[in-house]
Amino acid sequence: MNKGLLFVLSGPSGVGKGTVCKALLKKMPDLIYSVSATTRQPRIGETDGVNYFFKSREQFMQMIEEDQLLEYAEYVGNYYGTPRDFVERTLEEGRDIILEIEVQGALKVKEKFPDGIFIFLLPPSLDELKDRIRGRGTENDHVIDHRMNVAVEEIALMANYDYAVVNDEIDLACERIESIVIAEHCKIEPN
Ligand code: 5GP
Repeated sequence: MNKGLLFVLSGPSGVGKGTVCKALLKKMPDLIYSVSATTRQPRIGETDGVNYFFKSREQFMQMIEEDQLLEYAEYVGNYYGTPRDFVERTLEEGRDIILEIEVQGALKVKEKFPDGIFIFLLPPSLDELKDRIRGRGTENDHVIDHRMNVAVEEIALMANYDYAVVNDEIDLACERIESIVIAEHCKIEPN
């Protein structure tokens, strides 16, 4: 049996990765979502085990020590990481999986899975990105400024990715990513 494909959807916080990923999973129900672990507090409406596995710092450190994470990154004061077993098992079973993670983590995944398909989601502009982070209403000014600085650094790393997709409209961004998934399945493997 062929292994599944590993897709990584990344890009600056606030660009709409979560929304686009959710819409994509609706359109492509065979695509499996990798639920991350985090030390961040749940936001209203988030459920443990669905949006994230919410962990204490101690629990997260233990996951690192026990090598349970494929990658992890500290981001604006919290830890985020991808549980390794689930990703490996899903790929072995021949199913495609998608990770929705920030840029540093994506680059670490690339070291371990060079055959992964790395998609960078871009905002239409930096002003638009700031409006989106602000509009979410969950972050204070200090956090917004910090996230914007991180975003500019992250966009500079786009050259490490395979595809760039602008999130001007969710449906369009979603269609572009769906096309990438289809194209990757049509690819001829080199001998
Ligand atoms: P938020 O707090 O807004 O849910 O997420 C903050 C950032 O962490 C987002 O850019 C999100 O994509 C990223 N993130 C979520 N899960 C992971 C993960 O497992 N690993 C890494 N490196 N980043 C993650």
